[in-house]
Amino acid sequence: MRTITRHYIGGRFVESHGQGFRDIVNPTTGETIGMGIQGDAEDARAAVAAAKAALPGWSATSLQERGRYLQNIADSLDRHRDELAEVMTEEYGAISAFSGFTIDQARDFFLQAKALLVPETFEERLGDAVVRKVPVGVAALITPWNGSAWFLAMKAAVALASGSTVVMKPSDRSYLQSDAFIRALDEAGLPAGAINLVFGPGSVIGDELTGNPDVDKISFTGSTAVGKRIAANAAQTMKRVTLELGGKGPTVILDDADLAEAVPFALTVGLFNSGQACISGSRILAPRHRLDEVRAALKSGIEQFKVGDPRSADTMVGPMVTSEHYESVQSYIRKGVAEGASVLAGGEGHPDGLAAGSFAKPTILDDVTNDMAVAQEEIFGPVLSLIAYDDDDDAVRIANDSRYGLTAYVATRDEERGRAVADRIQAGRTMVNQFFDDKEAPFGGMKESGVGREFGKFGLEAYLETKTVYSR
Ligand code: NAD
Repeated sequence: MRTITRHYIGGRFVESHGQGFRDIVNPTTGETIGMGIQGDAEDARAAVAAAKAALPGWSATSLQERGRYLQNIADSLDRHRDELAEVMTEEYGAISAFSGFTIDQARDFFLQAKALLVPETFEERLGDAVVRKVPVGVAALITPWNGSAWFLAMKAAVALASGSTVVMKPSDRSYLQSDAFIRALDEAGLPAGAINLVFGPGSVIGDELTGNPDVDKISFTGSTAVGKRIAANAAQTMKRVTLELGGKGPTVILDDADLAEAVPFALTVGLFNSGQACISGSRILAPRHRLDEVRAALKSGIEQFKVGDPRSADTMVGPMVTSEHYESVQSYIRKGVAEGASVLAGGEGHPDGLAAGSFAKPTILDDVTNDMAVAQEEIFGPVLSLIAYDDDDDAVRIANDSRYGLTAYVATRDEERGRAVADRIQAGRTMVNQFFDDKEAPFGGMKESGVGREFGKFGLEAYLETKTVYSR
C-alpha cells in the first residue's frame, strides 16, 4: 500500500491541510493499492501564492536559462521512464507499449518547448510597432485521468517556456502517476514555486483555482460539462482559458475504401487507449451498399484486439480506469440496445476469464442511427457504433451532426477525395488514412470540444499575452 499525503508547493513536498483520502485501486485486479490525499481550498491557495511569488524571478530568466531547466526536466523524465510507465499501467491500466510511448512523448514536449525559445518567438517589429509576447502569469493546469503525465507535460512545458509559473491539478484517479511525475520534475531543480502540484477533488481544488484572482490562465483538459463550469467561473476574473473537451469522432469509410486497410484503421482509432480517448473514432460511418462487407470485416477484425492484462505484450485493450467507469460503459451498451441498436460483436459483461478487474468487451453496436445516445454521447470505452450513410453528402451530414468537433478520420484509396471530405468535416483535426500525428501541428476542438489549440507554437501562444509598443 502506498499513501500519498503531500502536495508539491514552493519547491517542497508539503503535508496537506485538507484531510481525508481516496482509495487507489488497480483496475486490472480490483485490489486497493494505495490512498491519495484529498487537499482542500487552502492547499490550492498556498500553491497559487507560491506560483505568484515565483513569477517575477521565473519570468525574468533568460531564454537560455529556461531552456536549460526544460532540458533538465526532459533528462529527469528519461531517467524515470520505466517507473513512470509502470505506474501508468498499474494505476490506470494502460497497455505497456502505450505507457512507454506516453512517457517518451511527455519528455519530448519539454524538448520541443525548449526549441521554441528563440528571440523571434517573443518579439516582432511591425512598422513603428514593437510587438512583444509576455508570459500570461500564473497558469492552473487541470488534467484528466486518461494519460496524466502526457497532459501535465504538454501543458507545463509550454507554460514554463513562456515564463509563466504553474499550479498543476491532476485527476484524483491519477495519484501514483502524478506523484511519480512531480518527483521527477523536482529533480530538475527549477526555482522554488515555478512548479506546484496539488492533489484533491476537482470540485474543491478546481473551483478555487478557477475562481482565484491570482490565477491568470486556466488550461483544462477534461469533460465538456466541467469545461463549461470552468469557463463560467473563469469569466468572473476574465482569465484566459484553453479548454480541451470531449469528442465523438466519426471515422468515415468512403465507398472506394480497401476494407482490408480501412477496417483495421477504424478499429485502431476507435479502440486506441482502450477506447478511453477523446480522439477516439467512436462512430464508424459506412456506405450502405457495402454494409454487409464492412460488418463482416469489423466482426472478424475486432477479434484481433486481445483484451487482458495490460502488462502483457500482446494485449491491445486494457481495463476501464475504475469499476464505476466500467458500469457507465455497460449502461451505454444497454441504452444502445434499448434504443434499437443490435450487438455485432462484444456486448455486456466482462470478457471470459477477466471478471476480477474492470474489463469491458470490445463491442460494436450495429444498426445505430445518429440520433441515438450511443452516437451522440461520449462513452469513453471500447464501444463503437456502426452507422450507415447513403452518399458522401450524407456521410458529411452525419459526421457533422454532433455537438462535438474534435478529431475525425477518413478512410479512402484516394487521398485527394479524402482531403475534400476532410475539408467539409467540422473538426479541429481530420486525419485521412493515418493516425499518428505531428506535435508541431495544432490540436484542439471545434464546437463543444473546446476552445483554443495546443501543441508546438500554438500551445505556447496560449500562455503569452501580446503587448504592442509604438515608437519611432
Ligand atoms: P473530468 O472533466 O471529470 O475531470 C477532468 C479534471 O477536472 C480532473 O482533474 C477533475 O478533478 C477536474 N475537475 C472536476 N470538477 C472540476 C471543477 N468544478 N473545476 C475545475 N476542475 C474540475 O474528466 P475526466 O473524466 O477526468 O476525463 C475524461 C474526459 O476528458 C472526457 O470527456 C474526454 O473526452 C476528455 N478529454 C479531452 C481531451 C482533449 O484533448 N480534448 C483529452 C483527454 C480527455
